[in-house]
Amino acid sequence: MNKSQHFIELEETYSAHNYHPLDVVIERGEGVWVYDVDGNKYLDCLSAYSAVNQGHAHPDIMAAAVAQMGRITLTSRAFRNDQMGPFLQELCAMTGYEMALPMNSGAEAVETALKAARKWGYKVKGVPADQAEIIVCQGNFHGRTTTIVGFSSEAAYKKDFGPFTPGFVMVPYGDAAALEAAITPNTVAFMVEPIQGEGGVVTPPEGYLKEVADICAKHHVLLVADEIQTGLGRTGAMFACDHEGVRPDIMTIGKALSGGFYPVSAVLTDQDVLGLFRPGDHGSTFGGNPLGSAIGRAALRVIRDEQLIERSRELGAYFKGRLERIESPYVELVRGKGLFIGVVLNTPARRFCEALRDRGILCKETHETVIRFAPPLVISKEEIDWALEHIEAVLMDEAVAETPVAFAEATSGLD
Ligand SMILES: *Cc1c(COP(=O)(O)O)cnc(C)c1O
Repeated sequence: MNKSQHFIELEETYSAHNYHPLDVVIERGEGVWVYDVDGNKYLDCLSAYSAVNQGHAHPDIMAAAVAQMGRITLTSRAFRNDQMGPFLQELCAMTGYEMALPMNSGAEAVETALKAARKWGYKVKGVPADQAEIIVCQGNFHGRTTTIVGFSSEAAYKKDFGPFTPGFVMVPYGDAAALEAAITPNTVAFMVEPIQGEGGVVTPPEGYLKEVADICAKHHVLLVADEIQTGLGRTGAMFACDHEGVRPDIMTIGKALSGGFYPVSAVLTDQDVLGLFRPGDHGSTFGGNPLGSAIGRAALRVIRDEQLIERSRELGAYFKGRLERIESPYVELVRGKGLFIGVVLNTPARRFCEALRDRGILCKETHETVIRFAPPLVISKEEIDWALEHIEAVLMDEAVAETPVAFAEATSGLD
């Protein structure tokens, strides 16, 4: 029995079976590479859903984390600490917003944004009590709390978890006219992913974000962009909204905000929205803690100092261009921006991901037929070239395409 099997059995026995992971048991990572307990080495093409844009175990972020651990890790917001203020100042300077509210997971940032939008609706827009409506998109992914899954269009995310929070309205993604038609006097916000990550790296039509921003402004509705996966350089811009020159009223970020060291998320707005919160309105024991803040500061510095945005833009265009030239009978379409690329197949993607793993490349199918390529942004052109050789071989391999469909494959791409 190899060592991996032991850990897989423990996990299968003691963990709830709420995921269907690829069977690779990772014990160590450095940059774009991860190593399993049996001594195999893999190129990480998922980056923990874009939480590790800076690469695994980035030495500068690690140094900041270790130094902060030796000072103080948690004060709670009952007291102040010397890391949170500088972190939020630097975050606002880098993103151009006036205020930030730090949380931990992405779902918490989304919940915070929803609360902030509702409060704005009642206090500023004058919506009657408990009547606020928030418009969301079909195919959305904003996290896993009961409120958030309640406005998902994915049956597997919601089944057996109701009843759900009211006040959400769904429109098709990429259809600005549908948004405008759905707005009522009680609409306080429209929440959208500039590229739907979990939905399958779905890029909306060119100009969509600009159009919805104009519609929101015209109807006094807040535009909430969920940039938790697309933000912080992933798509070749600081934020995916930047590609269309759109500045949302509310932005949620997370994932790469900590470079994968620790859960750190935040909501960004100007004074007019987050400025409405009063003591008691919202909170989190760990949100804004000094360890997470010190890590966040270092993670942001790495994005800036190593020019990860430019890297993502240039290498992403190269990677996507090469993928587009692969003439595989199983590939329908290659889409995405920067190093955020989805290869849409006409057949289940899981078996291709398993074949890539056997060749030392880790990626994960999303929505059954899409392979997402989102390596750490520190990847080199040589590493991309190496990966492309294997990707091409696997995408051309009839034996892979005809591998029998494994158990639970139908829902395995839903993360
Ligand atoms: C991952 C993700 C979330 C949820 O983040 P968690 O840290 O898993 O709670 C929310 N929105 C988007 C767009 C995401 O990709």
